Amino acid sequence: MEDVDVVVVGAGVVGLAVARALALAGREVIVLEAAEAIGTETSSRNSEVIHAGIYYPAGSLMAKHCVAGKRMLYEYCAERGLPHERCTKLIVATNEEEATRLASIQARAAANGVPDLTFLSREEAQAMEPALECTAALLSPSTGIIDSHSFMVSLQGDAEGAGAVLVFHSPVLGGRLTEAGAVIDVGGADPMTLRARLLVNSAGLHAPKLAAKLQGMPSQLTPRAYYAKGSYFSLVGVRNPFSRLIYPVPVAGGLGTHLTIDLGGQARFGPDVEWVDEINYDVDPARCEGFYAAIRRYWPELPDGSLAPGYSGIRPKIVPPAVASQDFTIQGPAAHGQGCLINLFGIESPGLTASMSVAAAVAELVA
Ligand SMILES: Cc1cc2nc3c(=O)[nH]c(=O)nc-3n(C[C@H](O)[C@H](O)[C@H](O)COP(=O)(O)OP(=O)(O)OC[C@H]3O[C@@H](n4cnc5c(N)ncnc54)[C@H](O)[C@@H]3O)c2cc1C
Repeated sequence: MEDVDVVVVGAGVVGLAVARALALAGREVIVLEAAEAIGTETSSRNSEVIHAGIYYPAGSLMAKHCVAGKRMLYEYCAERGLPHERCTKLIVATNEEEATRLASIQARAAANGVPDLTFLSREEAQAMEPALECTAALLSPSTGIIDSHSFMVSLQGDAEGAGAVLVFHSPVLGGRLTEAGAVIDVGGADPMTLRARLLVNSAGLHAPKLAAKLQGMPSQLTPRAYYAKGSYFSLVGVRNPFSRLIYPVPVAGGLGTHLTIDLGGQARFGPDVEWVDEINYDVDPARCEGFYAAIRRYWPELPDGSLAPGYSGIRPKIVPPAVASQDFTIQGPAAHGQGCLINLFGIESPGLTASMSVAAAVAELVA
Protein backbone atom coordinates (compact mmCIF):
# COMPACT_ATOMS: atom_id res chain seq x y z
CA MET A 1 0.00 0.00 0.00
CA GLU A 2 1.35 3.38 -1.04
CA ASP A 3 1.24 6.37 1.31
CA VAL A 4 0.33 9.75 -0.17
CA ASP A 5 -0.25 13.16 1.37
CA VAL A 6 -3.55 14.36 -0.18
CA VAL A 7 -6.03 12.61 -2.48
CA VAL A 8 -8.72 14.74 -4.11
CA VAL A 9 -11.54 12.65 -5.58
CA GLY A 10 -13.00 14.25 -8.70
CA ALA A 11 -11.55 16.53 -11.37
CA GLY A 12 -14.54 18.81 -11.79
CA VAL A 13 -14.06 22.54 -11.37
CA VAL A 14 -14.25 22.29 -7.58
CA GLY A 15 -11.86 19.34 -7.26
CA LEU A 16 -9.40 21.06 -9.60
CA ALA A 17 -9.60 24.34 -7.66
CA VAL A 18 -9.04 22.45 -4.40
CA ALA A 19 -6.10 20.50 -5.88
CA ARG A 20 -4.58 23.76 -7.10
CA ALA A 21 -4.99 25.52 -3.75
CA LEU A 22 -3.52 22.61 -1.77
CA ALA A 23 -0.64 22.08 -4.22
CA LEU A 24 0.20 25.79 -4.11
CA ALA A 25 0.15 25.54 -0.30
CA GLY A 26 2.92 22.95 -0.58
CA ARG A 27 0.92 19.73 -0.21
CA GLU A 28 1.62 16.68 -2.34
CA VAL A 29 -1.66 16.15 -4.21
CA ILE A 30 -3.05 13.31 -6.31
CA VAL A 31 -6.39 13.83 -8.06
CA LEU A 32 -8.26 10.61 -8.80
CA GLU A 33 -10.88 10.96 -11.52
CA ALA A 34 -13.18 8.16 -12.64
CA ALA A 35 -13.68 9.57 -16.15
CA GLU A 36 -11.18 9.96 -18.97
CA ALA A 37 -10.80 13.73 -18.70
CA ILE A 38 -11.39 16.77 -16.47
CA GLY A 39 -14.85 18.28 -16.08
CA THR A 40 -16.98 15.69 -17.84
CA GLU A 41 -19.95 15.89 -15.44
CA THR A 42 -21.70 18.92 -13.92
CA SER A 43 -18.75 21.22 -14.61
CA SER A 44 -19.37 20.96 -18.35
CA ARG A 45 -23.18 20.93 -18.06
CA ASN A 46 -24.02 24.34 -16.71
CA SER A 47 -24.78 27.90 -17.84
CA GLU A 48 -21.17 29.18 -17.51
CA VAL A 49 -22.46 32.25 -15.72
CA ILE A 50 -20.28 34.15 -13.26
CA HIS A 51 -23.01 34.83 -10.72
CA ALA A 52 -23.10 38.08 -8.78
CA GLY A 53 -24.41 36.51 -5.52
CA ILE A 54 -27.89 38.01 -5.52
CA TYR A 55 -30.48 35.51 -4.34
CA TYR A 56 -28.82 33.37 -1.66
CA PRO A 57 -29.85 33.71 1.98
CA ALA A 58 -27.67 36.23 3.84
CA GLY A 59 -24.99 34.45 5.82
CA SER A 60 -25.17 31.27 3.71
CA LEU A 61 -22.01 29.65 2.36
CA MET A 62 -23.46 30.10 -1.12
CA ALA A 63 -23.66 33.87 -0.63
CA LYS A 64 -20.22 34.09 0.95
CA HIS A 65 -18.37 31.92 -1.57
CA CYS A 66 -20.25 33.27 -4.58
CA VAL A 67 -19.32 36.86 -3.82
CA ALA A 68 -15.72 36.06 -2.85
CA GLY A 69 -15.35 33.52 -5.65
CA LYS A 70 -16.66 35.98 -8.23
CA ARG A 71 -13.94 38.48 -7.29
CA MET A 72 -11.25 35.81 -7.35
CA LEU A 73 -12.51 34.48 -10.67
CA TYR A 74 -12.54 37.85 -12.43
CA GLU A 75 -9.04 38.58 -11.15
CA TYR A 76 -7.80 35.16 -12.20
CA CYS A 77 -9.38 35.44 -15.67
CA ALA A 78 -7.80 38.86 -16.18
CA GLU A 79 -4.40 37.68 -14.98
CA ARG A 80 -4.42 34.58 -17.21
CA GLY A 81 -6.23 36.04 -20.20
CA LEU A 82 -9.01 33.45 -19.91
CA PRO A 83 -12.07 33.94 -22.14
CA HIS A 84 -14.79 35.65 -20.15
CA GLU A 85 -17.05 38.68 -20.41
CA ARG A 86 -18.71 40.91 -17.83
CA CYS A 87 -21.84 40.96 -20.00
CA THR A 88 -24.20 42.03 -17.13
CA LYS A 89 -27.71 40.75 -16.43
CA LEU A 90 -31.25 42.09 -16.23
CA ILE A 91 -33.78 40.69 -13.77
CA VAL A 92 -37.10 41.57 -15.33
CA ALA A 93 -40.56 42.05 -13.85
CA THR A 94 -43.45 41.46 -16.22
CA ASN A 95 -46.30 42.67 -14.00
CA GLU A 96 -46.82 45.01 -11.05
CA GLU A 97 -46.67 42.23 -8.45
CA GLU A 98 -43.25 41.14 -9.75
CA ALA A 99 -42.08 44.75 -9.92
CA THR A 100 -42.70 45.13 -6.20
CA ARG A 101 -40.44 42.10 -5.57
CA LEU A 102 -37.47 43.76 -7.29
CA ALA A 103 -36.84 45.92 -4.22
CA SER A 104 -36.50 42.90 -1.94
CA ILE A 105 -34.14 41.24 -4.44
CA GLN A 106 -32.05 44.41 -4.45
CA ALA A 107 -32.01 44.46 -0.62
CA ARG A 108 -31.02 40.80 -0.37
CA ALA A 109 -28.19 41.33 -2.86
CA ALA A 110 -26.92 44.30 -0.83
CA ALA A 111 -26.99 42.17 2.34
CA ASN A 112 -24.83 39.63 0.51
CA GLY A 113 -22.22 42.24 -0.42
CA VAL A 114 -23.62 43.00 -3.87
CA PRO A 115 -24.62 46.65 -3.49
CA ASP A 116 -24.43 47.58 -7.17
CA LEU A 117 -27.84 46.47 -8.54
CA THR A 118 -29.66 49.39 -10.10
CA PHE A 119 -33.36 49.79 -10.64
CA LEU A 120 -34.46 50.46 -14.25
CA SER A 121 -37.80 51.67 -15.56
CA ARG A 122 -39.41 49.87 -18.47
CA GLU A 123 -38.06 52.53 -20.85
CA GLU A 124 -34.52 52.36 -19.47
CA ALA A 125 -34.48 48.57 -19.75
CA GLN A 126 -35.89 48.68 -23.28
CA ALA A 127 -33.27 51.25 -24.28
CA MET A 128 -30.67 48.63 -23.38
CA GLU A 129 -32.53 45.65 -24.84
CA PRO A 130 -35.09 46.74 -27.46
CA ALA A 131 -36.61 43.24 -27.84
CA LEU A 132 -37.43 43.07 -24.14
CA GLU A 133 -40.93 43.39 -22.68
CA CYS A 134 -41.09 44.24 -18.98
CA THR A 135 -42.61 46.64 -16.47
CA ALA A 136 -39.32 47.28 -14.62
CA ALA A 137 -35.93 45.64 -14.17
CA LEU A 138 -32.79 45.40 -12.08
CA LEU A 139 -29.38 45.62 -13.73
CA SER A 140 -26.62 43.48 -12.23
CA PRO A 141 -23.34 44.93 -13.51
CA SER A 142 -21.06 42.26 -12.03
CA THR A 143 -22.71 39.23 -13.67
CA GLY A 144 -20.68 37.68 -16.47
CA ILE A 145 -19.94 34.58 -18.49
CA ILE A 146 -16.86 32.41 -18.73
CA ASP A 147 -15.42 29.63 -20.87
CA SER A 148 -15.51 27.06 -18.09
CA HIS A 149 -13.31 24.57 -19.91
CA SER A 150 -10.47 27.07 -20.34
CA PHE A 151 -10.81 27.88 -16.65
CA MET A 152 -10.55 24.21 -15.68
CA VAL A 153 -7.54 23.65 -17.96
CA SER A 154 -5.85 26.61 -16.30
CA LEU A 155 -6.59 25.26 -12.79
CA GLN A 156 -5.21 21.90 -13.87
CA GLY A 157 -2.06 23.56 -15.25
CA ASP A 158 -1.48 25.47 -12.02
CA ALA A 159 -2.03 22.37 -9.92
CA GLU A 160 0.33 20.29 -12.04
CA GLY A 161 2.86 23.13 -12.09
CA ALA A 162 2.86 22.97 -8.30
CA GLY A 163 3.46 19.23 -8.39
CA ALA A 164 -0.06 17.75 -8.35
CA VAL A 165 -0.69 14.59 -10.36
CA LEU A 166 -4.02 13.84 -12.09
CA VAL A 167 -4.90 10.22 -12.68
CA PHE A 168 -7.86 9.41 -14.95
CA HIS A 169 -9.90 6.19 -15.24
CA SER A 170 -9.46 5.85 -11.49
CA PRO A 171 -12.79 5.49 -9.67
CA VAL A 172 -12.50 5.53 -5.88
CA LEU A 173 -14.63 2.58 -4.79
CA GLY A 174 -14.61 3.09 -1.02
CA GLY A 175 -12.30 2.71 1.95
CA ARG A 176 -11.88 3.19 5.66
CA LEU A 177 -10.90 6.11 7.82
CA THR A 178 -8.08 5.42 10.30
CA GLU A 179 -5.90 7.42 12.69
CA ALA A 180 -3.09 7.20 10.12
CA GLY A 181 -5.18 8.39 7.18
CA ALA A 182 -7.85 7.30 4.72
CA VAL A 183 -7.21 3.88 3.20
CA ILE A 184 -8.93 3.93 -0.18
CA ASP A 185 -9.59 1.33 -2.82
CA VAL A 186 -9.16 2.57 -6.37
CA GLY A 187 -10.67 0.62 -9.28
CA GLY A 188 -9.99 0.87 -12.99
CA ALA A 189 -7.56 -1.15 -15.12
CA ASP A 190 -4.89 -1.18 -12.39
CA PRO A 191 -6.72 -1.41 -9.09
CA MET A 192 -4.72 -0.26 -6.08
CA THR A 193 -5.00 0.70 -2.44
CA LEU A 194 -3.66 4.04 -1.21
CA ARG A 195 -3.42 5.59 2.22
CA ALA A 196 -3.91 9.36 2.17
CA ARG A 197 -3.21 11.65 5.12
CA LEU A 198 -6.09 13.72 3.78
CA LEU A 199 -8.94 12.70 1.51
CA VAL A 200 -11.05 15.44 -0.12
CA ASN A 201 -14.32 14.04 -1.43
CA SER A 202 -15.19 16.36 -4.33
CA ALA A 203 -17.15 13.80 -6.31
CA GLY A 204 -20.08 16.09 -7.15
CA LEU A 205 -23.28 14.12 -7.71
CA HIS A 206 -21.56 11.03 -6.28
CA ALA A 207 -20.09 12.62 -3.14
CA PRO A 208 -22.80 11.33 -0.75
CA LYS A 209 -22.54 7.81 -2.20
CA LEU A 210 -18.75 7.84 -1.83
CA ALA A 211 -18.95 9.12 1.77
CA ALA A 212 -21.34 6.26 2.56
CA LYS A 213 -18.69 3.80 1.37
CA LEU A 214 -16.04 5.13 3.76
CA GLN A 215 -15.99 3.04 6.94
CA GLY A 216 -15.77 5.37 9.93
CA MET A 217 -17.83 8.14 8.32
CA PRO A 218 -20.85 8.64 10.64
CA SER A 219 -23.88 7.60 8.60
CA GLN A 220 -26.12 10.23 10.21
CA LEU A 221 -23.88 12.92 8.71
CA THR A 222 -23.94 11.45 5.22
CA PRO A 223 -26.71 13.18 3.27
CA ARG A 224 -28.89 11.36 0.79
CA ALA A 225 -28.29 12.40 -2.81
CA TYR A 226 -31.21 13.83 -4.80
CA TYR A 227 -30.99 14.84 -8.43
CA ALA A 228 -32.68 17.91 -9.93
CA LYS A 229 -32.17 17.83 -13.66
CA GLY A 230 -32.09 21.04 -15.66
CA SER A 231 -32.71 20.94 -19.41
CA TYR A 232 -31.71 23.66 -21.85
CA PHE A 233 -33.21 24.62 -25.18
CA SER A 234 -31.17 26.48 -27.80
CA LEU A 235 -32.39 29.26 -30.04
CA VAL A 236 -32.15 28.12 -33.66
CA GLY A 237 -32.78 29.84 -36.97
CA VAL A 238 -33.30 33.23 -35.31
CA ARG A 239 -30.75 35.86 -34.38
CA ASN A 240 -30.45 36.38 -30.63
CA PRO A 241 -31.54 39.99 -30.09
CA PHE A 242 -30.15 40.24 -26.52
CA SER A 243 -26.66 41.18 -25.43
CA ARG A 244 -27.24 40.67 -21.71
CA LEU A 245 -28.47 37.75 -19.65
CA ILE A 246 -32.22 38.02 -19.04
CA TYR A 247 -33.71 36.49 -15.89
CA PRO A 248 -37.36 36.69 -14.85
CA VAL A 249 -38.16 37.40 -11.21
CA PRO A 250 -37.49 34.05 -9.45
CA VAL A 251 -40.35 31.59 -9.03
CA ALA A 252 -40.77 29.17 -6.12
CA GLY A 253 -38.02 26.56 -6.37
CA GLY A 254 -36.01 28.10 -9.20
CA LEU A 255 -34.73 31.10 -11.06
CA GLY A 256 -37.40 30.89 -13.77
CA THR A 257 -36.78 30.24 -17.45
CA HIS A 258 -33.90 32.55 -18.14
CA LEU A 259 -31.87 33.42 -21.20
CA THR A 260 -28.12 33.06 -21.07
CA ILE A 261 -25.64 33.65 -23.83
CA ASP A 262 -22.32 32.02 -24.51
CA LEU A 263 -19.13 33.85 -25.46
CA GLY A 264 -20.09 33.46 -29.14
CA GLY A 265 -23.37 35.34 -28.49
CA GLN A 266 -25.55 32.22 -28.96
CA ALA A 267 -28.64 32.14 -26.76
CA ARG A 268 -29.95 29.23 -24.72
CA PHE A 269 -32.87 29.01 -22.35
CA GLY A 270 -33.09 27.12 -19.08
CA PRO A 271 -32.30 25.18 -17.06
CA ASP A 272 -35.74 24.04 -15.89
CA VAL A 273 -36.23 21.80 -12.87
CA GLU A 274 -37.14 18.11 -13.09
CA TRP A 275 -36.52 15.82 -10.12
CA VAL A 276 -35.15 12.47 -11.35
CA ASP A 277 -34.01 9.20 -9.74
CA GLU A 278 -31.24 8.35 -12.19
CA ILE A 279 -28.47 10.29 -13.91
CA ASN A 280 -29.57 10.59 -17.52
CA TYR A 281 -28.71 13.61 -19.64
CA ASP A 282 -31.25 13.12 -22.47
CA VAL A 283 -33.37 16.22 -23.14
CA ASP A 284 -37.05 15.47 -23.67
CA PRO A 285 -38.17 17.66 -26.62
CA ALA A 286 -41.69 17.82 -25.14
CA ARG A 287 -40.42 20.00 -22.27
CA CYS A 288 -40.05 22.93 -24.69
CA GLU A 289 -43.79 23.68 -24.49
CA GLY A 290 -43.42 25.26 -21.06
CA PHE A 291 -40.42 27.22 -22.31
CA TYR A 292 -42.29 29.11 -25.04
CA ALA A 293 -44.91 30.49 -22.66
CA ALA A 294 -42.36 31.47 -20.03
CA ILE A 295 -39.98 33.19 -22.47
CA ARG A 296 -42.75 35.09 -24.28
CA ARG A 297 -43.56 36.91 -21.05
CA TYR A 298 -40.34 38.91 -21.53
CA TRP A 299 -39.70 38.26 -25.26
CA PRO A 300 -43.12 38.28 -26.95
CA GLU A 301 -41.57 38.06 -30.42
CA LEU A 302 -40.04 34.61 -29.85
CA PRO A 303 -41.06 32.80 -33.06
CA ASP A 304 -42.75 29.37 -33.08
CA GLY A 305 -40.36 26.54 -33.84
CA SER A 306 -37.26 28.41 -32.74
CA LEU A 307 -36.34 26.25 -29.73
CA ALA A 308 -34.35 23.04 -30.13
CA PRO A 309 -33.34 20.60 -27.38
CA GLY A 310 -29.88 21.53 -26.15
CA TYR A 311 -28.18 19.75 -23.26
CA SER A 312 -28.88 19.10 -19.61
CA GLY A 313 -27.12 19.11 -16.28
CA ILE A 314 -28.05 17.65 -12.92
CA ARG A 315 -27.95 19.63 -9.67
CA PRO A 316 -26.30 17.70 -6.84
CA LYS A 317 -29.06 18.16 -4.28
CA ILE A 318 -28.84 16.92 -0.70
CA VAL A 319 -32.40 17.90 0.21
CA PRO A 320 -35.67 16.52 -1.21
CA PRO A 321 -37.97 18.55 -3.50
CA ALA A 322 -40.14 19.79 -0.64
CA VAL A 323 -37.21 21.70 0.88
CA ALA A 324 -36.99 25.04 -0.87
CA SER A 325 -33.26 25.65 -0.67
CA GLN A 326 -30.00 24.07 0.39
CA ASP A 327 -26.55 25.40 1.16
CA PHE A 328 -23.05 24.21 0.31
CA THR A 329 -21.70 21.75 2.89
CA ILE A 330 -17.95 21.81 3.54
CA GLN A 331 -17.72 19.05 6.11
CA GLY A 332 -14.44 18.63 7.98
CA PRO A 333 -13.18 16.94 11.16
CA ALA A 334 -15.06 19.32 13.46
CA ALA A 335 -18.32 17.92 12.04
CA HIS A 336 -17.58 14.22 11.60
CA GLY A 337 -14.61 13.64 13.89
CA GLN A 338 -12.33 12.12 11.25
CA GLY A 339 -9.08 14.06 10.87
CA CYS A 340 -8.33 12.67 7.42
CA LEU A 341 -11.53 13.59 5.57
CA ILE A 342 -13.20 16.63 4.04
CA ASN A 343 -16.51 16.11 2.25
CA LEU A 344 -17.95 18.62 -0.20
CA PHE A 345 -21.70 18.04 -0.46
CA GLY A 346 -24.36 19.86 -2.43
CA ILE A 347 -22.04 22.06 -4.47
CA GLU A 348 -24.69 23.09 -6.99
CA SER A 349 -25.00 26.54 -8.59
CA PRO A 350 -23.13 28.86 -7.98
CA GLY A 351 -20.37 26.26 -7.62
CA LEU A 352 -18.50 27.30 -10.76
CA THR A 353 -18.40 30.94 -9.63
CA ALA A 354 -17.59 29.95 -6.06
CA SER A 355 -14.98 27.29 -6.84
CA MET A 356 -11.83 29.28 -5.99
CA SER A 357 -13.33 30.54 -2.74
CA VAL A 358 -14.51 27.05 -1.73
CA ALA A 359 -10.99 25.82 -2.48
CA ALA A 360 -9.51 28.56 -0.30
CA ALA A 361 -11.87 27.51 2.52
CA VAL A 362 -10.73 23.88 2.20
CA ALA A 363 -7.07 24.97 2.26
CA GLU A 364 -7.77 27.03 5.38
CA LEU A 365 -9.51 24.11 7.07
CA VAL A 366 -6.52 21.91 6.31
CA ALA A 367 -3.98 24.49 7.50
C1 LIG B 1 -27.93 22.92 -14.83
C2 LIG B 1 -26.84 23.58 -14.05
C3 LIG B 1 -26.47 24.90 -14.31
C4 LIG B 1 -25.46 25.52 -13.59
N1 LIG B 1 -25.09 26.77 -13.91
C5 LIG B 1 -24.08 27.38 -13.21
C6 LIG B 1 -23.65 28.67 -13.55
O1 LIG B 1 -24.09 29.25 -14.53
N2 LIG B 1 -22.72 29.29 -12.75
C7 LIG B 1 -22.20 28.67 -11.65
O2 LIG B 1 -21.40 29.30 -10.94
N3 LIG B 1 -22.54 27.39 -11.34
C8 LIG B 1 -23.45 26.73 -12.11
N4 LIG B 1 -23.81 25.45 -11.82
C9 LIG B 1 -23.11 24.76 -10.74
C10 LIG B 1 -21.75 24.19 -11.17
O3 LIG B 1 -21.80 23.64 -12.46
C11 LIG B 1 -21.32 23.10 -10.17
O4 LIG B 1 -21.43 23.63 -8.86
C12 LIG B 1 -19.90 22.65 -10.37
O5 LIG B 1 -19.67 22.29 -11.70
C13 LIG B 1 -19.63 21.45 -9.47
O6 LIG B 1 -18.32 21.02 -9.70
P1 LIG B 1 -17.77 19.73 -8.97
O7 LIG B 1 -16.32 19.67 -9.25
O8 LIG B 1 -18.21 19.76 -7.54
O9 LIG B 1 -18.59 18.51 -9.60
P2 LIG B 1 -18.43 17.77 -11.01
O10 LIG B 1 -18.15 18.67 -12.11
O11 LIG B 1 -19.63 16.88 -11.12
O12 LIG B 1 -17.16 16.87 -10.79
C14 LIG B 1 -17.15 15.72 -10.00
C15 LIG B 1 -16.15 14.77 -10.60
O13 LIG B 1 -15.98 13.66 -9.73
C16 LIG B 1 -15.82 12.51 -10.51
N5 LIG B 1 -16.15 11.36 -9.65
C17 LIG B 1 -17.37 11.07 -9.13
N6 LIG B 1 -17.30 9.98 -8.35
C18 LIG B 1 -16.00 9.57 -8.38
C19 LIG B 1 -15.30 8.50 -7.78
N7 LIG B 1 -15.91 7.63 -6.94
N8 LIG B 1 -13.98 8.35 -8.05
C20 LIG B 1 -13.33 9.24 -8.88
N9 LIG B 1 -13.96 10.26 -9.47
C21 LIG B 1 -15.27 10.44 -9.22
C22 LIG B 1 -16.77 12.70 -11.67
O14 LIG B 1 -16.41 11.88 -12.76
C23 LIG B 1 -16.60 14.20 -11.93
O15 LIG B 1 -15.62 14.45 -12.90
C24 LIG B 1 -24.80 24.81 -12.55
C25 LIG B 1 -25.16 23.48 -12.28
C26 LIG B 1 -26.17 22.87 -13.02
C27 LIG B 1 -26.53 21.45 -12.74
